[in-house]
Amino acid sequence: MAFTQAPLPYAFDALEPYIDARTMEIHYTAHHAGYVAKLNAALEAYPELMAQPVEALVRSYPDLPEAVRIAVRNQGGGHYNHTFFWSIMTPGGKAESPFMVQCIEQRFQTFKDFQKEFEAKAVSVFGSGWAWLCITPHHTLEVVATSNQDSPITNDLTPILGLDVWEHAYYLKYQSKRPSYIDAWWHVVDWAKVEELYRAACNT
Ligand code: MN
Repeated sequence: MAFTQAPLPYAFDALEPYIDARTMEIHYTAHHAGYVAKLNAALEAYPELMAQPVEALVRSYPDLPEAVRIAVRNQGGGHYNHTFFWSIMTPGGKAESPFMVQCIEQRFQTFKDFQKEFEAKAVSVFGSGWAWLCITPHHTLEVVATSNQDSPITNDLTPILGLDVWEHAYYLKYQSKRPSYIDAWWHVVDWAKVEELYRAACNT
């Protein structure tokens, strides 16, 4: 038993011109693959942990044996977060449905206001991390940021949208211009997938 990367659901160049092929290739084959390899190495002596889904480990990493806690937080979080990230993007993007717009407007007034709040969170991450749109245990929407490979699932939040703002996600094409990367990324968001995750989390 070992953790493995699911195949990327599209070609490396499929998100061009918004996310370039070289960045996608390095991101998937070096960064994401690295988290998986290091997670497997760290858990080699813990077959009972290896047998669990990565999501379960990341969710409860503070309760794990101290010897593996940091590895699960960082490498397990990296594996979980990247698998999620690939799944909410699609070539050319998929537009938000009226249902999803309504859900977002109920919480953020307008869709544009939501995007502004999300972008502000993504820009304000100091160093490496992520911006997320999550469902709380009370089924409300919340925009949050996490550092490094921390994941909202550890705090009982269910992510339905997430953006990797580590420099490795954008530096080749956008250099230090993180806001330009964020602007471009909206074009490849799969809002049909976001809605599927929303409906599953809220039982609607
Ligand atoms: Mn990344």
